[in-house]
Parts: sequence; C-alpha cells; structure tokens
Amino acid sequence: MEAPKTLQQAVTYFTSYENCKAYMVALRWPDGKVKCPQCGSDHVTYLEKARLWKCYSKHSRPKFSLKTGTIFEDSPLGLDKWLPVMWMLANCKNGVSSWEIHRAIGVTQKTAWFMLQRARLAMQGEAGGKLSGEVEVDETFIGGKARNMHVGERSKKITGRGPEGKAIVAAVLERHGEIRAQVVETRRKKPLQAMVREHVETGSSVYTDALLSYDGLSEDFEHQVIDHAVAYVDGQVHTNGCENFWSLLKRALKGTYVSVEPFHLFRYVDEQAFRYNNRQEMNDAQRFDAVMAQIVGRRLTYKELTGKLDDPTQAETN
Ligand SMILES: [Zn+2]
Repeated sequence: MEAPKTLQQAVTYFTSYENCKAYMVALRWPDGKVKCPQCGSDHVTYLEKARLWKCYSKHSRPKFSLKTGTIFEDSPLGLDKWLPVMWMLANCKNGVSSWEIHRAIGVTQKTAWFMLQRARLAMQGEAGGKLSGEVEVDETFIGGKARNMHVGERSKKITGRGPEGKAIVAAVLERHGEIRAQVVETRRKKPLQAMVREHVETGSSVYTDALLSYDGLSEDFEHQVIDHAVAYVDGQVHTNGCENFWSLLKRALKGTYVSVEPFHLFRYVDEQAFRYNNRQEMNDAQRFDAVMAQIVGRRLTYKELTGKLDDPTQAETN
C-alpha cells in the first residue's frame, strides 16, 4: 500500500501495525537500524508477539516499543489511533477539538484532550535561527475566561493580565517567512523588546504599531511605526501579516476550542504557529511528516499538564 495522502487514507493505512512500524522505524532510525532509545545501542532483538525490542546492554527497562522516547510514551493507545490524530491536528486549519477526536476515534473526550495536548508539544517550535529582512512585531489580547479554577489558583496562574483579565500574545513575523509567537506577561517595554532582540537579527527592518513599549528599538533595528489611530498601512509599514495570524488564532480559539484555560494558552499558540509556518508549498502528508519529525525526545505527562495523577487514558482499552 502506498503512503497516505489524505486523512481517509491515513486512517486506513495506519490501521495496520506493520504500516505504523514501517513509518515509525523510517522516522526514528532512517538507516533502518533500530536503536535502544536509552543507550543508543543497535544490539537489540525484536520480540514479534509483544511488538517490543529488547536491548542487550545492561540497564533497567531494557524493552522498548516504537512509542518509547516520544510524546506517545506510556500511552496505552495504539499508533492506529495516535497517527490519525497527529494528521488531523497538523492539517485542520482551525484546529480539532477534543470532542471531534472523541467521535472520530472512539476515545473519551478527556483522553482526546490529553492526546491533543501531547500532540501540541510536538508542534512547539524548535529554537531556529534569527528572523531577518522585513519583520513585523505585534501583540494582541485573547479573551479566555478563567473557568474551572479556584480563586487562589486563578490569581497564581494568570499573571499576564491585559484589560479585563485577558491574556496577551506577542508575535514576531518575518515577511514571507516564519512566525514566532508566545504568551507574554505584560505589554511593557522590557518583555516585548527582549522578545524582539531574541528573535530578530540586528539591523533588520522592524515594523510595529505605535505602542510606546516599542520605543527604542531604533537603536538596533530599522524601526518604523504605523500609528493605527491614523492608518493601518503606509507603504511597507504595516503589521498585516501579524493581523492575519491573530485572526487565524482567534478563529481556532473561538470556533473550535471555545474555552481554553489561560495557563494552557501557549500550547494553542504553538499549534497555530506550527500550521502557519508549515502552510506554504506543503501538502498534508508533508505537514504530517513535519510534526512527526518533532515527536522524539519530548514528553508530557498528565501530572505535568494538570497537576493531577489520574491520567484518563490509562483506563482506555485499545
Ligand atoms: Zn539500551
């Protein structure tokens, strides 16, 4: 069977464990030699029945699976469920809700939510090089309500406060290039300018709105300001690229995710930035490969995510 090109093909294709195995081995060990994720040794044997490899080096937990050492580690759910979820999240422009996953693959909504949060971890950007050329910088408010949280917890977790307790997201965008977006605590000068300096090559053209926090960027950049009280575009000087990203992010947050706790917001920002950065000249299969390329060496446990021990996926039968 050929490699899948559509979601439907992916669902069918990954129903077969042998196909999952072929895909994962090629992804993790491109030379075809399966290596122990713990010690790197290729002196391993495959235990066909258990679908595990056994490492011959002397260390604890010598057995490992295709999922060991990836965001899927310790999940009782099979790759036949995981891989279609990765496909959907990589390719659905407005995101995928846990309810959709619940219906599509037959796990509980809670499990689906945890799966999606793990998938978002794979979408977190790797620290790439600096942006350059023409760069837009902008920030926006996200109106998430702090639901299901204790008052004490709320005041502890939501420190980034805009008007009416809204969260703030800031972005740096290279025109015709990548976006880097992150949740920031305040719109003050220090964090915003630190972000610009972290992500943008000195000497680049930087376009911002008239927010005073951007004052002083001209020391290191060709800084030009568009005052939105006067106009939104003045030749090259505008932040329309960022505006476009905000509208995509807000559409996903409002339409698909409805209510996101502020302390999880950065994961949704990572997800949207991933799709934005992989939008051009890529088909669905390539976007899937791009997210899968980042599953290794990352892990998110239910406890890290929620502070609770009772991982709902452990009760799933596969
Ligand atoms: Zn080993």
